[in-house]
Amino acid sequence: MARLALAVDIGGTSIKFGLIDQHGQQHGDLTRHPVPFCPDGSADMDGLFAIMQPYVERASALCVTDGLLLGISMCGNIDEQTGEAVLVANLHWRNVPFGARLQERFGLPYAIATDVGLAALAELEWGVGRGLRDFGWVTIGTGYGGYLVLNGQLYKGHHGFAGNFGHTPLGLPDGILCGCGQVGCLETYVAGPAIARSGQAAADSGDSPMLRRLANGARVNAEMVFQAEQEGDPAALAIIDTMIDRVARNLAGVVNLLDLELLVFGGGVVHASPTLLPRIEDRIRTNLMTIESRRNLRVVMESFPNSALFGAAVASFIKAGLLDASSHS
Ligand SMILES: [Zn+2]
Repeated sequence: MARLALAVDIGGTSIKFGLIDQHGQQHGDLTRHPVPFCPDGSADMDGLFAIMQPYVERASALCVTDGLLLGISMCGNIDEQTGEAVLVANLHWRNVPFGARLQERFGLPYAIATDVGLAALAELEWGVGRGLRDFGWVTIGTGYGGYLVLNGQLYKGHHGFAGNFGHTPLGLPDGILCGCGQVGCLETYVAGPAIARSGQAAADSGDSPMLRRLANGARVNAEMVFQAEQEGDPAALAIIDTMIDRVARNLAGVVNLLDLELLVFGGGVVHASPTLLPRIEDRIRTNLMTIESRRNLRVVMESFPNSALFGAAVASFIKAGLLDASSHS
């Protein structure tokens, strides 16, 4: 039987699980739970481990001969060697010794890395990026960011923190505090919370009676803004159009800088509207510098139901010597 990895994707709002074998096949369903938080606003590590425990036990029972591997994806900057969560803004973690505590708790071989890097790795190993040299992974969800594959390898950068194009400083007068500590990063204008915030403002100001009606006394969320947009609400149309424009200008700049051949998209916001990605693609293309890029750039959805989860499995197999790492790291 193929070796199995329990892949765990710890995001800003949910923790997801999948059992994936070394050929990229998923066994059973993907499942999710809300991330538990402490009263101080930081993610509760013991609570996370308690959620993981039954999954580890069930998966270990299937791996009595070879032993279970753990692949962990996390939504922030991770030290892959030590497993330290260096800066995970959405979990309010800074310099948290996650890997050491994980090792103490479960005693299993594990690999851990930032979710966007793992998503790109999954596309490179098992997905649409297989055999390609230069492409970008882009996620628009709770945050906005991505990762790069350059010359056929993940581009990690000097500290391993590359790909944070959501933290491009815009310097606009209405900038708000970003999770990274800076003010006015691009992410704070285009990610899910920004769409929800703009929608709430439109409901409150009376610009969008439709959003006020959809919210029905609750907070406006990004899905409501997309729904209002589908129904032709002018305020929602303007919010999404501005978001598309900012993302597209940013990514056209990235493609112009690096001459990429492919952009792969994932994240909750991209999945929330079937028409969003084609519109982003059109707008990127109009902003590209060369006719070659305008003609050849491909823009596609991720190859997996959750690319970071599959990438976490890839990383655990590479670390265990079961997949070839020579061209990837
Ligand atoms: Zn930022």
